[in-house]
Amino acid sequence: MENQRGHVIVLPYPAQGHINPLLQFAKRLASKGLEATFATTHYTVKSIQATTVGVEPISDGFDEGGFKQAPSVKAYLESFKTVGSRTLAEIIVKYKDSDSPVCCIVYDSLLIWALDVARQFGIYGAAMLTNSASVCSMYWQINQAILEKFGCLNKIDWVFCNSFEELEDELVKAMLGLWPLVMIGPMVPSAYLDQQIAGDSAYGASLWKQTGDECIRWLDKKPENSVVYVSFGSMTDIAAKQAEQIALGLKASNKSFLWVIKDNENKLPVEFVNSIGETGLVVTWCNQLEVLAHQAVGCFITHCGWNSILEGLSLGVPMVAVPQWSDQPTNAKFVEEVWKIGVRVRKDENGIVIGEELKMCVNEVMDGEKSKEIKRNASKWRELAKKAVSVGGSSDRNIDEFVAKMLKAEG
Ligand code: UDP
Repeated sequence: MENQRGHVIVLPYPAQGHINPLLQFAKRLASKGLEATFATTHYTVKSIQATTVGVEPISDGFDEGGFKQAPSVKAYLESFKTVGSRTLAEIIVKYKDSDSPVCCIVYDSLLIWALDVARQFGIYGAAMLTNSASVCSMYWQINQAILEKFGCLNKIDWVFCNSFEELEDELVKAMLGLWPLVMIGPMVPSAYLDQQIAGDSAYGASLWKQTGDECIRWLDKKPENSVVYVSFGSMTDIAAKQAEQIALGLKASNKSFLWVIKDNENKLPVEFVNSIGETGLVVTWCNQLEVLAHQAVGCFITHCGWNSILEGLSLGVPMVAVPQWSDQPTNAKFVEEVWKIGVRVRKDENGIVIGEELKMCVNEVMDGEKSKEIKRNASKWRELAKKAVSVGGSSDRNIDEFVAKMLKAEG
């Protein structure tokens, strides 16, 4: 049967930094005429808000509490593979005789089993990379332990990457012919990139309770480019010793600060908390995009998670990179040495960033010798990111080519 609408299932790994870009991509595909269904676990499905995209629950075997309920990471992944494959297949069957049968599964590259489900039904399979293309190709080339994740990337139909060609141009050229790599990012809601795409003015997924508009009201009172925003993302819990040094650094920098610290119980020194006053605001979670887009924010102290990097870069905010693990050290290197939109902290022999170092980095980025160049580069990359996703831009063209193919595909 000729499929007129083109129906794509988008399957994220159920963590904040994976759900955000994949939900955004599903919305982007829907805005271009495809039917998109976001299939996510029972535990996370409650937090999804989407009007232009269908939402279907699948099971990871831990429907009540998700990952936290599993006895180990291994047990979780095994259960997700078995139960997830079955429940994903059920969604495909559900639409099989409708007027929009599923013709492609776009899955988070961690969930390699989704490709087997696609093949079982004879439909397209596409993997979405939630790290930068540079980091992924490095893993692919050198790290045997995670080869499994990338082992099939030369066999599938598309490898989507939440990045854009101009940002990683050398890598895109180097991977030509090795992977069917397609750069489709940054998957930042269009409103933040001065575009208006229906149904895509927010990520529409928050696994944590947000603090209303308290942050924005507080930022509204601050002068332009005066505030340091500090966040270590959704996965990293910083140790009390490190939190103490950050507190010292922020205080010594003499800047106003907005600090997201998810689990701040007993981590912040009492005298610091008592002395904050109007200079600082400490919250457990915020709408990061709104904060980064606020004109008062002049510096982003970040753990360098890929979404945070793309968000900061797309909104032109200079960064102080404090990488922790995984792809973050590589992202930090790009921030400092390749895109030149910030500086990277040096850690001491115990792996701690001491307050004095943080203070120096903040001052360097906001008013120091390098600050002019950093601000110039941050504006340049913001414009290039906007261009990539606007009509006719590199990522927009890449998505159009995929959509055209889907509109012709057999379901
Ligand atoms: N985020 C947010 N509020 C916060 C902290 C983070 O909305 O207070 C969002 C942020 O915008 C990003 C995601 O959570 O989209 C974190 O993803 P990232 O890849 O940066 O880091 P991870 O959490 O995966 O380490």
